[in-house]
Amino acid sequence: MGTDFYNEFSNTGCTVPPLVDRKSKSYPTKISFGGFTIGGSEVIIIAGPCAVENHEQLLETAKAVKSAGGKILRGGAFKPRSSPYNFQGLGQEGIKMLGDIRTETGLPFVTEVMDTRQVEFVAEYADMLQVGSRNMQNYPLLKEVGMLRKPVMLKRGMMATLEEFLLAAEYILNQGNEQVILCERGIRTFETTTRNTLDLSAVPMLKHMTHLPVIVDPSHGTGLRWMVPAMAKAAVAAGADGLIMEVHYKPEEALCDGYQSLNPEEFVHLMTDLKKVAQAVGRDIILP
Ligand code: PEP
Ligand code: MN
Repeated sequence: MGTDFYNEFSNTGCTVPPLVDRKSKSYPTKISFGGFTIGGSEVIIIAGPCAVENHEQLLETAKAVKSAGGKILRGGAFKPRSSPYNFQGLGQEGIKMLGDIRTETGLPFVTEVMDTRQVEFVAEYADMLQVGSRNMQNYPLLKEVGMLRKPVMLKRGMMATLEEFLLAAEYILNQGNEQVILCERGIRTFETTTRNTLDLSAVPMLKHMTHLPVIVDPSHGTGLRWMVPAMAKAAVAAGADGLIMEVHYKPEEALCDGYQSLNPEEFVHLMTDLKKVAQAVGRDIILP
């Protein structure tokens, strides 16, 4: 063979761990709960506030998310805040509130778990657990959620290569939990105009490397409300299986990440645009 010969992965500069390797399965992983499937032909939209604040905020936001076509509610109760002086989330009370809102609206929910000691409690309520960017390499936590038989959304560490990201996912699969969804949420670069640099090239690359579903978070990926629609549409065009976005019924009053949260009107508008993009790339978004 000449020097221009390379196998399928050698040009990625990375080794794919065995359990997440696309070649280890004949079909992409599909994760179903709440009447829909992540990793199928439908692009699944997850939306909601950065943090659970109170019953009214969560209910009004959840209603807006549902009526616009969102399938899963997001909301943090255990919040990893950069400053210890900022709102830290409502903790267990917030998790219970998410459960109440699910009863009221029928929306399943995803919420973050930051510590192995929270896993049992959160798993009792949540439909899907989130391991956040700051915890992508918290190996005890990865092992703990790996012992669950519930979907886990793993966010890419802000300094993590795709190889490190896949190795983190491998920890979860290695414990027997195959229901892992990867979330690209932007990485740290030298650029400062945006909160993070949203690496959309990670979407086709991850789908090339692994059988796991891949979703994108354009809210943390940009940190700017006005940029979210453009990057959300680009993510769907790039082949994302879903999006997770911050929506707040009153972004200007949000206790956390209001400047990157869409209001209900912006969200409805975006959903109709996203459906068109999804259809243009052979997918769909089912609107109510
Ligand atoms: C979040 O989704 O609430 C969050 C804190 O995101 P990340 O871990 O990507 O910063
Ligand atoms: Mn946030």
